[in-house]
Amino acid sequence: MKKHNFNAGPSILPQEVIENTAKAIVNFNDSGLSLMEISHRAKDFQPVVDEAVALFKELLNIPDGYSVLFLGGGASLEFCMVPYNFLEKKAAYLNTGTWAKKAMKEAKGFGEVVEVASSAEDNYSYIPKKYTIPTDADYFHITTNNTIFGTELKEDLDSPIPMIADMSSDIFSRPIDVSKYICIYGGAQKNLAPAGVTFVIVKNDAVGKVSRYIPTMLNYQTHIDGGSMFNTPPVVPIYAALQTLRWIKAQGGVKEMERRAIEKAEILYNEIDRNKLFIGTAAKEDRSRMNICFVMASEYKDLEPDFLRFATEKGMVGIKGHRSVGGFRASCYNALPKESVQALVDCMQEFEKLHL
Ligand SMILES: *Cc1c(COP(=O)(O)O)cnc(C)c1O
Repeated sequence: MKKHNFNAGPSILPQEVIENTAKAIVNFNDSGLSLMEISHRAKDFQPVVDEAVALFKELLNIPDGYSVLFLGGGASLEFCMVPYNFLEKKAAYLNTGTWAKKAMKEAKGFGEVVEVASSAEDNYSYIPKKYTIPTDADYFHITTNNTIFGTELKEDLDSPIPMIADMSSDIFSRPIDVSKYICIYGGAQKNLAPAGVTFVIVKNDAVGKVSRYIPTMLNYQTHIDGGSMFNTPPVVPIYAALQTLRWIKAQGGVKEMERRAIEKAEILYNEIDRNKLFIGTAAKEDRSRMNICFVMASEYKDLEPDFLRFATEKGMVGIKGHRSVGGFRASCYNALPKESVQALVDCMQEFEKLHL
């Protein structure tokens, strides 16, 4: 049976990305060696990193003066590297969910952290709109897509101070104005590659301004100077990321990814709003295109396990909601075809006929 992969992360990748990476794992560039058993300094591997960096810059229209890094440690290590490298006295954070809160917690170890606003009191079901960003803070940190709660900032904000964004789960799903940010980072395993590589887009002249000592491996300058090759980078995930970047380009770039994301999200949200069994959990204006969260209406609440079983039998994978929201979460990343969203909608309609 065809599986429809709605996993939140690690998550669906384009089939050709998986196949090309599998081929290179067996025989990299007809070298007779596996991608897993060559040096990251082999002359055949440098072009992989170079092309991945070039495609990042091209697809996201990254201005001059920025570096693209491929590091280890996940987005979670960036929660600490960001304040290590950029927080001298004070930083501002928008608290929109579990990941934002974790980022904030790390920053508190380095200086004063101002929480400009929070939607914690309403289980992060919306993104706060009215708040003041302190102009004397070193940066303003946001999480553009809240993977767990299904809310998303779908446009770049205006900020009087440089922004830093965790874009783990919506990178390459829309065009972004990189010039508004001094740093954009994320774990690759939501929309780009298998787990193991972290992407960081960093403005070169924003680095090196804090007065503290920064351990070598945690210093962005080390990796800017080393071209992500200061130590052994995650070779296989970087290779897979390159395949995804080529795929995005061939499909028409981030504009096309955005068009598809809007289309897929509309199909599913329309069904959630129409079908009396289900209700969406996020405020309408903040609904994420990437992670679509919904629960069963209170009078049908006890049908949730039944629907999960029903949908699983029909090939839906990974739709169980995160424990902090409950119900269901359908992650609709770039690689998820519209047909999978349609298949989920069909399930919801069949289930409705059985119970209403
Ligand atoms: C998954 C996720 C993280 C954590 O990423 P790791 O690579 O596992 O550290 C951080 N932020 C967001 C928005 C995420 O979705």
